[in-house]
Amino acid sequence: NLSEKLDKALHTLRGRGQITEINVAETTKEIRRALLDADVNFKIAKEFTNRVKEKAIGQDVLTSLQPGQLMVKIVKDELTELMGGDAEGIDLSGNPSVILMSGLQGSGKTTFSGKLANFLKRKKSKNPLLVACDVYRPAAIDQLHVVGDQIGVSVYSDKENKNPVSLAQAGIAHAKANGHNVVIIDTAGRLAVDQEMMDEISNIRDAVKPQEILFVVDSMTGQDAVNTAKSFNDVLDFDGVVLTKLDGDTRGGAAISIKSVVDKPIKFIGTGEKMDAVDIFHPARMADRILGMGDVVSLVERAQEQFDEEQARRIQKKIAKNRFGFDDFLSQIQQIKKMGSMKDLIGMIPGAGKAMKGLDIDDDAFKHIEAIIHSMTPAERSNPALLDAKRKKRIAKGSGTSIQEVNQLLKQFTQMSKMMKMMQGGGGKKMMQMMQN
Ligand code: GDP
Ligand code: MG
Repeated sequence: NLSEKLDKALHTLRGRGQITEINVAETTKEIRRALLDADVNFKIAKEFTNRVKEKAIGQDVLTSLQPGQLMVKIVKDELTELMGGDAEGIDLSGNPSVILMSGLQGSGKTTFSGKLANFLKRKKSKNPLLVACDVYRPAAIDQLHVVGDQIGVSVYSDKENKNPVSLAQAGIAHAKANGHNVVIIDTAGRLAVDQEMMDEISNIRDAVKPQEILFVVDSMTGQDAVNTAKSFNDVLDFDGVVLTKLDGDTRGGAAISIKSVVDKPIKFIGTGEKMDAVDIFHPARMADRILGMGDVVSLVERAQEQFDEEQARRIQKKIAKNRFGFDDFLSQIQQIKKMGSMKDLIGMIPGAGKAMKGLDIDDDAFKHIEAIIHSMTPAERSNPALLDAKRKKRIAKGSGTSIQEVNQLLKQFTQMSKMMKMMQGGGGKKMMQMMQN
């Protein structure tokens, strides 16, 4: 599926020390292929990957975050943008507000009508009325009544009336007479797009002038969903899309393509058959879902949240001036520990990731390091040169470690400070040589 493919495409970059034009090109090519495989329109996929490429090359990715993760973030942000910025609400300004459902048979219109009524009743304190305009199948009218009973919402229907336009009008009149401030009109679909269905829904629209026309589509129908969306939009110029059946195997491609092709917001998603299985559409969450790498993305987010950039800059300055002390070291360790696994996160220390990796410091080692640093006086922390044999002995005792361990830490610290300084100075090559020795 798309998630796995994107994951694979991004894999090469993850954890890489450097983003070059070559591996960005490689990766974006893979991403494009993954998008195409997921039924995303060619032009959209191409534009998308071009934007990702531009951003990746344009951004300063060599500093505080691992480039691979930043790349994931760029892809996620672009996907989010592509699917439509912030979640958009629906227009409830009318009195009553009329919401017209459109879509093929089986897309989930009747189910979603109920879900929406339920949502508006409970979350928006509205008093909705459901109107059954599927005049072809008596079972469809019964289905809406079952739904209405479940959620405690009134349903207007008239099995004698076979004219969907006058039914819709009668429904609205009924709503006005009974104090309903929202009217949800459930209509009949067909198995495929046809003229009769389009005429019927346009006639209802012209007669009732809805505040909102929602197009309901089964997200599991792939590229067909996109074609259907286009046909409906050409005729109806609808206001928003409802993606149903996102509880099954996700076809994220549908969300991306539909939004791009019809340029209408996705407003809701259906995630199950029950009346509460509905969510307002959040592009960022959908991007997460499509990327299927929530852990990586949230890792990046956590890092950005917790890694105080100001502090990073301050420390870099200290390094440059040879004034990086044990206090700074300790606060770096604590920052990192807040974010989770040492191994994944060590690369986030500005300019020091590689150097520290070279030293093979593991999580357990940090416990001793912290204990040792805690046993130092402030003067010793900022000026490690003070640490003579007597002081070392005191520190070892105080931290429950040995003089050897204190010495070891001092050696590592000195070595690390040197390496960091070299990296700041752009002496990457020299550092690599040193690490190999
Ligand atoms: P309509 O013909 O457009 O009115 O479609 P229905 O509302 O009758 O839905 C068709 C089928 O899809 C029904 O069996 C629903 O229970 C099911 N369905 C609708 N929405 C969802 C959803 O979000 N998830 C799942 N799993 N099933 C859904
Ligand atoms: Mg129906």
